[in-house]
Amino acid sequence: MRRASTPVLGCAVALAGWLAVAAAQAPTSPDWRAVEDETMRHYQALLRLDTSNPPGHEQLAADYVKAVLDREGIPAQIVASDPSRSNVIARVKGNGRKRPVLIMGHTDVVTVDPAKWTFPPFGAARDGGYVYGRGTVDDKDNLTAALMTMILLKRGNVPLDRDVIFVAEAGEEGSTSVGIDFIVKQHFPDVEAEYCLAEGGGVTRKGGKVAYATIQTLEKVPRRIELVAGGVAGHGSVPLKTNPIVHLAGAVARIGDWRPPIRLNETTAAYFTRLADISPPDVAQHYRDVLSTDPAVQRAADDWLFEHEPRHSSMLRTSASPNIMTGGYRFNVIPSQATATVDVRLLPDENQDAFLEQVKTIVNDPSVTVRYPSAATRKPGLEVRLDSEAFKAIEAAVTRVYDTVTIPAMGTGATDMAQLRERGVQCFGIGPATDIEDGPKGFGAHSDQERLLESELHRFVRFNWEIVTSLARAR
Ligand SMILES: [Zn+2]
Repeated sequence: MRRASTPVLGCAVALAGWLAVAAAQAPTSPDWRAVEDETMRHYQALLRLDTSNPPGHEQLAADYVKAVLDREGIPAQIVASDPSRSNVIARVKGNGRKRPVLIMGHTDVVTVDPAKWTFPPFGAARDGGYVYGRGTVDDKDNLTAALMTMILLKRGNVPLDRDVIFVAEAGEEGSTSVGIDFIVKQHFPDVEAEYCLAEGGGVTRKGGKVAYATIQTLEKVPRRIELVAGGVAGHGSVPLKTNPIVHLAGAVARIGDWRPPIRLNETTAAYFTRLADISPPDVAQHYRDVLSTDPAVQRAADDWLFEHEPRHSSMLRTSASPNIMTGGYRFNVIPSQATATVDVRLLPDENQDAFLEQVKTIVNDPSVTVRYPSAATRKPGLEVRLDSEAFKAIEAAVTRVYDTVTIPAMGTGATDMAQLRERGVQCFGIGPATDIEDGPKGFGAHSDQERLLESELHRFVRFNWEIVTSLARAR
């Protein structure tokens, strides 16, 4: 979708010189119809490369992307700790008046069970307006959109106040040591930016119509807590008061029953407020009630969310989910030890030591040791401000391209943005529009099948371009 006031241009290549002159006064737009063919070509080519992780083989995608950038004359480098799992970093230069903006997409995908697919998972089949394949919505959509933005910026010779940096990273699906960790450790000066755009958000369609856009502005910090119950081993025929299995079970049950205190931040407060505005009245009331200053009202709303929308309950607090228990080895032996692991997702500003003390209070059993088994690997990331230039630019782009409301969100899981946020980059998770009905049908990210509407791929490329140019274009 193009703004009515935007001049309709022909081929961006031929008009490069004109663009350079005109861009300072008026927003310019590529010839989107011509762009669509090219977008689809790159998207399908990337989908056809089997970068299932494990093992990854992301060099296939890295080499493809590097070749495309080389052809366009965009300086790009391959960086890798493992040659078969390489990453690409590229840059279109601006005048340096402002700090860079970074756009990224990961090249690996999760594994597939080919028997579950109607179309081959690495065939990129087009059918009924969809493209089918592993990675269509995670994350070769972001990868393609970012790549197209780079191509169009370079070809259009768009004058920029900011450098635009592109990263195609390996290993996002559980092996970040070869991807974002390596890049941040070894090549941070090459990717250092004021703002970054990556996966983690998305536009929701209901009944074929756009309902709202979610932009991820921060994410929780994962950490694990270990519970170790100790006692004296003994014969199973003589029950003992100190039996570690019994003590551990009690401790796990108490953590399971506990919901840590609700604490909202700017993002989650805005999230529930804006979600309430667009929800049916009965559901909207729960979203408004969790913001209430009356603890009883808030508690009742939280109870409802915990039962019906557990992700929303998790967004209200640091969460703790006991997920592993081990102990015992023979039916007739009381073991001397039993352990449990609790998956903790901390609010970004949580005091981790103080939280551990709270867990000890909940466990309330001197025979159970409560501890972090390893040192903190992730520091809390920078929380982006909703009045920042970038968030405002994204919100304006949502209005222009999708004509809908923007809802900032906190991710309960972890993305590759965490490592960048730790280093002070303000990151935003974006994504294309997908049908809310498509997930339950088994076509979402990491599902048995995966697909994206062609029209929404193309709209997403325009969205990416709109955000980047409004942030980076020379004024
Ligand atoms: Zn992903």
